[in-house]
Amino acid sequence: MKIETLAVHAGSAVDPATGAVSAPIYLSTTYERDIEGTYSRGFMYTRNNNPNREALERGVSALEGGDAAAAFGSGMAAAMALFQALDPGDHVLAHVDAYYGTSRLLRETFLRWGLEGDFVDMSNLDEIKKALRPRTKLAWTETPSNPLLKIVDLAAVAEIVHRTNALCVCDNTWAPVLQRPFDLGIDLVLHSTTKYFGGHCDVAGGIVIAKKDDDFFQRVRTIQYSGGAVPSPFDCWLILRGMRTLPWRMRAHSENAMKVAEFLAQHPKVEVVHYPGLHTSPGHEIAGRQMSMFGGMLSFEVKDGRDAAMSAAAKTKIFTRATSLGGVESLIEHRASIEGSGTTSPVNLLRLSVGLENADDLIEDLDQALG
Ligand SMILES: *Cc1c(COP(=O)(O)O)cnc(C)c1O
Repeated sequence: MKIETLAVHAGSAVDPATGAVSAPIYLSTTYERDIEGTYSRGFMYTRNNNPNREALERGVSALEGGDAAAAFGSGMAAAMALFQALDPGDHVLAHVDAYYGTSRLLRETFLRWGLEGDFVDMSNLDEIKKALRPRTKLAWTETPSNPLLKIVDLAAVAEIVHRTNALCVCDNTWAPVLQRPFDLGIDLVLHSTTKYFGGHCDVAGGIVIAKKDDDFFQRVRTIQYSGGAVPSPFDCWLILRGMRTLPWRMRAHSENAMKVAEFLAQHPKVEVVHYPGLHTSPGHEIAGRQMSMFGGMLSFEVKDGRDAAMSAAAKTKIFTRATSLGGVESLIEHRASIEGSGTTSPVNLLRLSVGLENADDLIEDLDQALG
């Protein structure tokens, strides 16, 4: 089946009890035991599993082409489960340009708990080769990166990492559908489903998808139900509802972002635009190979520094000043001030989550804001 068809149908079935075409939301926390004391219907207690979570996991797993998935209450809870599935002393190869929250979680929490970690630029293959150790168990990739839209060559990284026993994770939050990490040799995919999967800025969630339902994934599964950082049935229902339109939304986000990037690239007040769809972008060639379109996220640096950037963000009327991404509404954000100390984001950089408005209106809004 093609991806649009999978997105509409995966994880769904007409409800056998009522004929409901849209799945009911199962709020029940507990499920009836059979007379013999077993649970032949598969559900016992909602933290362990419930029909909405199971449907979401089956759906997202089918969409990514994986074996199994485990859904969490947020993207960071999903990331945390991956780190917790490691043993003390295990070494993680992290990406210098990974999502700020992921790097912070590793640095501030998991190094204290006995993981070892090195932050390397995953777009530099020699750096990866040098940093791999006998105890490297996980290599963390993320592409396009936040907020500089740097591109990591997933197939090349997976090939190098697989010369050892380590697993390769891809945080695919920014490019669902557009990028198929399992086809490129990646072992585990993570999404913050708060972003494009939910798609409407009204639900938080995260998910880990495994190419193979192996021992490592079973550890993640155990952490999910015994640790309990699980999404509610309604959250699962909303995220799966969002998935139904995901391929079409990603196409429209990408088309709009391309137009906005091209407009900004020729604007006299703009120093540089970071968008892999532009021919001038350093990651353009690799992105063209591993992505079907270039996604809805971009950032740009304003001439005349931080104040000029802040002033442009203050003047937009359609773009809302807010963090996060992936919703139907366009957002603009001064990234350095939200990340705070230790940020790698340039002070004159603004990040855009390009939504599903008409691109002409978005361009007009940015034009008047830049002055
Ligand atoms: C938002 C985000 C996360 C964290 O997800 P939450 O749902 O906010 O916990 C992780 N990775 C990337 C790339 C993100 O954009």
